Amino acid sequence: METHFSRVALQNTVTCRGAGLHLGQMTAVTLKPAPAGTGRVFIRVDLPGRPEIPADLSQVRETLLSTELGAGSATVRTVEHLLAVLGVMGLEDLIIEVNGPELPLLDGSGLVWWQALQAGGLTPVDNAAEVPPLTEPVAVYDGDAFVIAIPAPQRRFTYGIDFPRYAPIGKQWYSWSPETESFAAEVAPARTFGFADQVEKLRQAGLIQGGSLENALVCDGETWLNPPLRFSDEPARHKLLDLLGDLSLLGPIPPAHYFAYKASHRLHTQLARRLQGNLTN
Ligand SMILES: [Zn+2]
Repeated sequence: METHFSRVALQNTVTCRGAGLHLGQMTAVTLKPAPAGTGRVFIRVDLPGRPEIPADLSQVRETLLSTELGAGSATVRTVEHLLAVLGVMGLEDLIIEVNGPELPLLDGSGLVWWQALQAGGLTPVDNAAEVPPLTEPVAVYDGDAFVIAIPAPQRRFTYGIDFPRYAPIGKQWYSWSPETESFAAEVAPARTFGFADQVEKLRQAGLIQGGSLENALVCDGETWLNPPLRFSDEPARHKLLDLLGDLSLLGPIPPAHYFAYKASHRLHTQLARRLQGNLTN
């Protein structure tokens, strides 16, 4: 099985192309090896001066339906699936050149990013500093939604969702242990999902312009419009992928049990900020 959360370096440059979910613009993303200590840095190569946007929590701008980072007037949106893959892969140093304001959605999951980076060649980084495990619980809430990080000897990620108005989703729970379960097989392939009765409203608001039945699972009250699913609990697995991507804005994710219920990019990034405070104080 592949390794998870142990540091690696990319050997060769790789490129992925496609349309972004929200803005619908075609973009190319070129992932380039970077020296240790660089961190992950987006570069908007289409803008004058090629502005850099570090993939850190301090750059988070907007968290409505996707996570957007920004520096000055330069922004990059829908970074969470790539960042989830980088975090689990242990790829902490990378130049990410993008020629538009949003990363491509690809097939709606993390799988294409995972496969492209594997094809680029990954080598272990020796003597990489280990991130210390969490020592106290940290929690954020919003109504009955929450994200908690609980001290645990090994990393685990658990996600619960409840969509009573959408029978094909309903209540789902999924828990992933990177110690024993493959990310590439169990989490990376889980696709973005959405709701048929919200499509028109979101389109009118200028969102999901690049969404289609090819790159997102769409559900109405009674059924999926574009089966088959890759997993019966694919939506819960996708939310877990989003959580991994948002936590990855910390850099290496500290060992802990992360447990989210009905959460959102906003709550995921709030928890990450609280964790960052705990780690630096
Ligand atoms: Zn997502």
